[in-house]
Amino acid sequence: MISTDINLAVQHLKENGIIGFPTETVYGLAGNAFDTEAIHKIFEVKKRPTFNPLIVHIKGIEDLKQVATEIPPMAHELANTFWPGPLTLLLKKQPYIPDLVTANLDTVAVRVPNHPVALSLLNQLDFPLVAPSANPFTNISPTRAEHVENYFGNQINMVLDGGECSAGIESTIIGFNNNKVVVYRLGALSLEEIEKVSGSVLLITKNDKKTIAPGMLLKHYAPKTDFIITQNIQEELDWYSGQKIGLLLFDSYLPYFEKKNQIVLSEESDLKIAARKLYNAMHKLDKMNLDLIIAERLPDYGLGISINDRLVRASKK
Ligand code: AMP
Ligand code: MG
Repeated sequence: MISTDINLAVQHLKENGIIGFPTETVYGLAGNAFDTEAIHKIFEVKKRPTFNPLIVHIKGIEDLKQVATEIPPMAHELANTFWPGPLTLLLKKQPYIPDLVTANLDTVAVRVPNHPVALSLLNQLDFPLVAPSANPFTNISPTRAEHVENYFGNQINMVLDGGECSAGIESTIIGFNNNKVVVYRLGALSLEEIEKVSGSVLLITKNDKKTIAPGMLLKHYAPKTDFIITQNIQEELDWYSGQKIGLLLFDSYLPYFEKKNQIVLSEESDLKIAARKLYNAMHKLDKMNLDLIIAERLPDYGLGISINDRLVRASKK
């Protein structure tokens, strides 16, 4: 059930329920971070493997000590600059944070979401919320209440509607290694913005045997339809001629190709707008019964880097 009733959401969360809720990045599937029953439900409904930890959402920086210890000065500086906002910090966890939340790691991922509905909800609770994205494991992330409803229906207590997510892709995840800032997942906060505060960062987002941040999983954010990313759309169209194809394009339509099978992310060539529209465009194309979706690689700077990361992962089998 989709609803804008925050009081009802509060009630469900207090009674060990799980709900879809809006943040500025994507919709989350939220439950009480201290309640293992709710957390188990989240893993079950998402079909998420338990080695994949969850992000803890708090209402403000003043609650950080409730979930984390040993907070380096740079973590404070970044949190002060970017919270509420799409920056997730990996910090040493407080011992009472359930191991299920952190997949037995000694770190916890934490952030303050920048969405009025999410903040209003958190302000009415005396516990933080764990909230992974509200999509089944590896599927396209949800940026509208209907996406969550379509995925989970009555498997969850409700979807709290807060409109379309403004950032549209997941948070950027960073950790600290000997006082060096390490980026584990590219996201809605660009590297350039972080580096203005922290100086240069180390980027470790390639898959490794030991996955540190599961947003790093190679296949992720993927439509059911075959999906490829390319710098040269025409070449791929020639190669796959005869197939029913949809195009996901950055800033301009391809002439001489059926317009209804094309989605342009931002005619203004604005990467922020492109990020906001990305997942909804992928949801739409995925519903069109196409043989193949061909996505155009975006410029490799700013949020373009994060969007390309998602497109590459969506293209993995
Ligand atoms: P989701 O919200 O579905 O993108 O999932 C939350 C993401 O947070 C996971 O995919 C992980 O990348 C990351 N994460 C959460 N907790 C930790 C942790 N303790 N260490 C590393 N990454 C984490
Ligand atoms: Mg996710």
